[in-house]
Amino acid sequence: MKQIEVKKIIEPISTSDGAGVKLKRSIGVEPNYFDPFLMLDEFGSENKDDYIAGFPPHPHRGIETVTYMLEGEFEHEDSTGAKGRMSSGDVQWMKTGGGIIHSEMPAMSEGKLHGFQLWINMPAKLKRNKPEYIYIDAKQMKVYKDLEKKIKIIAGKFGDIEGPVKGHNVEPIYFDVELEKDKIFNFNLPSTHNSFIYLIEGEIKIGDKNHDKIKNSTLIVLSKGEKLNIKGLIKSKFLLVSGKPIGEPIARGGPFVMNTKEEILEAIQDYQNETFVR
Ligand code: MN
Repeated sequence: MKQIEVKKIIEPISTSDGAGVKLKRSIGVEPNYFDPFLMLDEFGSENKDDYIAGFPPHPHRGIETVTYMLEGEFEHEDSTGAKGRMSSGDVQWMKTGGGIIHSEMPAMSEGKLHGFQLWINMPAKLKRNKPEYIYIDAKQMKVYKDLEKKIKIIAGKFGDIEGPVKGHNVEPIYFDVELEKDKIFNFNLPSTHNSFIYLIEGEIKIGDKNHDKIKNSTLIVLSKGEKLNIKGLIKSKFLLVSGKPIGEPIARGGPFVMNTKEEILEAIQDYQNETFVR
């Protein structure tokens, strides 16, 4: 089995989106495309001015948005009629398909907000589907725990424990891992997949080869292989995300990701003509 090593270490850039929410973007900056992952944002602040403006109504087409709240509360509402509140530890996995218009607004006026939004591409054959949700309540989250680590399983399987996102075309793995100092997290990944680690806090050593120091809020793109081992140099928290590449041409236009420029223009026209949601 091939050992997985660090391929690239990416420091996120500070940017803002929505109506002015400050965030750290690590995938989707150039914009690079790390098939099937289109974007990764970490949002988080103890200062309400950094998040209070939220994400007022906006459209999406052709992608999945996976929002993971670590701390704080969000109110969401969309064109399917769905409405709800996301609380600490909840995950909203939304397949936008052919089109959705939604808003994501902080349901808090003070305190700490912290979370992630990941965009996953959809293949041509699924880009026109009806919008669909998978909602994971923090209380229903599948968790593996021993003295060395705690793993929240949002997607994929750790030992016998399987997350709720099943039968998905990119066969995603999405773990939130808490690793104690000097302990090792071992996991086998499919060699077909593209994978990354996002270190939330702490300091870790990945693989066998030497690499630059990896500390808080850093994206680490992994080489392809099967055998992943990560050591906590201090107590650390990180996300492990992995998915099978889709391998189709992509065209991006803000919140729309399709295969061709014509399809992006179609999405913009549909939105302007109010024929976006079908
Ligand atoms: Mn959105």
